[in-house]
Amino acid sequence: MNGETTRPLTAGDIDVQTSASSLDDETPLAAAARDHVALAQRVLATTSLPRPAHTRVFVVANQKGGVGKTTTTVNIAGALALKGLRVLVVDLDPQGNASTALAVPHAEGTPGVYEALVDGTDLDELVRPCPDIPGLTVLPATIDLAGAEIELVSLVARETRLDKALQAYLADCEQAGDRIDYVLIDCPPSLGLLTVNALVAGREVLIPIQSEYYALEGLGQLVRNISLVQKHLNPALDITTILLTMYDARTRLSAGVADEVRAFFGDKVLKTVIPRSVRVSEAPSYQQTVLTYDQSSSGALSYLEAAREITGRV
Ligand code: ADP
Ligand code: MG
Repeated sequence: MNGETTRPLTAGDIDVQTSASSLDDETPLAAAARDHVALAQRVLATTSLPRPAHTRVFVVANQKGGVGKTTTTVNIAGALALKGLRVLVVDLDPQGNASTALAVPHAEGTPGVYEALVDGTDLDELVRPCPDIPGLTVLPATIDLAGAEIELVSLVARETRLDKALQAYLADCEQAGDRIDYVLIDCPPSLGLLTVNALVAGREVLIPIQSEYYALEGLGQLVRNISLVQKHLNPALDITTILLTMYDARTRLSAGVADEVRAFFGDKVLKTVIPRSVRVSEAPSYQQTVLTYDQSSSGALSYLEAAREITGRV
């Protein structure tokens, strides 16, 4: 853990001159500084987040790779847990990037989501705590999961195996007086059986969209697949949340993509956007979320604010 950045933020950290906002000739840098201060103040004012009436299960999906699914999963989950909620991350990508970022062991052969799906092992035996963030637990993925996509084909109830395992685990936790508030399932970049299992197990779909050219390409297919699962396997499923990631406020491209996404998905799109930030991309190589790696960075503040927004949209 980075010792310098773990001290809680105080008002003093953000006590910078904000009068620039009253100037007509405000520079882009001054505007960015002002926005950062305003965001930090909003985030600091939120010491805890409300528990939902029932466990909310989010599927973080987009069949495109590199759009920020894993980054969003670990940082939203981390933000919710840091604000006092009980959170489970299900790593459903054989790459195991979410397990890495949350510092949970996932070397080949480590029991994890593969054993839950293929062998029917209880989640209770597989879920591990994230060492850096109290209240956050992880069902890890190993490379063994790569074979599950094919192995599942011949198994009974192949689309509902994650749902069964997860529901049993959530019921056990609730009975033990330890209810989980949020589950976030990090999907692989495909629409195969693993993603279908996630869509059957979840109630809300969170789609991260990279603020880049071609951002909307493939979304039609994703939406159609979600509708199919909804119709045949999980009527309760709904796309509730869209998050713009890797947003670059300096480019008209990002603003243009954001406008298009908002025109298409309306108020499902979170007001908060996640800026492109080196700190966000550095954090996983230290086995951390950006929240613990650099808590005052724009990436950390934005994910905290996005998490707050999500808890307010029930
Ligand atoms: P996915 O899970 O959809 O494949 P990732 O979350 O792994 O996408 O992100 C892809 C790459 O982009 C990773 O290297 C990640 O660190 C980087 N990245 C994600 N979000 C940001 C951001 N806001 N700023 C900078 N880099 C980011
Ligand atoms: Mg990923």
